[in-house]
Amino acid sequence: MEGTSKILPAERFDVLFEVLKKQGFDIWGVHEKDDALTLAPIDGPADLPRGRIDDTGPGKMRLIDGSRDAYFDHTLPMQGLKRLVYPPQDKVFETGEDYMFTEPPVDAKPIAVIGARSCDLVALETLADVLENGPYPDHRFAERRQALCLVAVNCTRAAKTCFCTSMNSGPRAESGYDLALTELFNSDGHRFLIEAGGERGQAVLDAMSVDEATDKDRHAANIISSTVAASMTRSIPDDARETLKSSYDHPQWSDIGERCMDCANCTLVCPTCFCSTIEDRSSLDGSIAERWRRWDSCFIRDFSYIHGGVVRKETASRYRQWMTHKLTHWHDQFGRSGCVGCGRCIAWCPVGIDITAEIRAISKTGEAVVEAGVS
Ligand code: SF4
Ligand code: SF4
Repeated sequence: MEGTSKILPAERFDVLFEVLKKQGFDIWGVHEKDDALTLAPIDGPADLPRGRIDDTGPGKMRLIDGSRDAYFDHTLPMQGLKRLVYPPQDKVFETGEDYMFTEPPVDAKPIAVIGARSCDLVALETLADVLENGPYPDHRFAERRQALCLVAVNCTRAAKTCFCTSMNSGPRAESGYDLALTELFNSDGHRFLIEAGGERGQAVLDAMSVDEATDKDRHAANIISSTVAASMTRSIPDDARETLKSSYDHPQWSDIGERCMDCANCTLVCPTCFCSTIEDRSSLDGSIAERWRRWDSCFIRDFSYIHGGVVRKETASRYRQWMTHKLTHWHDQFGRSGCVGCGRCIAWCPVGIDITAEIRAISKTGEAVVEAGVS
């Protein structure tokens, strides 16, 4: 459903929070904590990192003061929406002394996320393809996703690590949102263009006493999005999928293996990585047994352990597995890329390994194949 668009003056930004609270939502948004941007429960506009921007690069994220008093000139928080729908640890079964298994109820509280970026909306749809739309849907994921009200923010600047334009996932939110904000600073003042993306967003908009947006406001928002898109310097080449299929034994994998520390940061911050493991926990007296699903990572050596051996023994083979899944096999499995170009894996890698630079290094020598590949 195509909704209407309105204008909310920045000094009345709290009205949006109040309406969402009245409609029963807890509110989450980007919050500055420990010199980083995190996704956290917030109460109102004062909890947002107003006037702050991120200076982000390979292996680097610093918060600094911006040149204006904007609410959303920063880019992404460390985490995407994944943790809200697919928590790092989730108890999926439990049993008591009667040895009957029961499933704990899903904590699917209505949450409104203010400030979700376009790449993270696409990442949520990408995760839904894996966890919700296949033959074995995870109803815990689905219920949590349904409970989210997503208030997107169209980016007003790109980090140096962003490459969403080359993944068709930004910088403007095209779908998957309930409301989309664009922060405008011009001769008409500091205001938000608010667009409804569906019935839930329209209901929020209808409950706010705000003016209709004009064509001039919508044009100003379009200019911002095209300027941000044009400012991105990183990209994934169009032929990455085919390049990787013919580069299984490329020497670049060993080169990456020399630098990668197997820390798994990249998979933990990635909004689409979904690898998990199952842990059974029991009390010492045997009265309680629980089964937990918790995040795991293909960078962990034992992740590929099967009946007596580890399949991917070397760091190089684990990086290759991760990158080829993201950029190649995800297309084969789910008809889309597993990477949305958010750049988090570049920023939060302690040694600055950059997926866009690595694929270019592999593309440069094209079909080069060496015998001494990784195993
Ligand atoms: S692979 Fe990197 S850039 Fe792509 S979605 Fe994951 S964290 Fe973002
Ligand atoms: S690529 Fe970087 S973030 Fe990922 S496991 Fe290796 S060192 Fe850690």
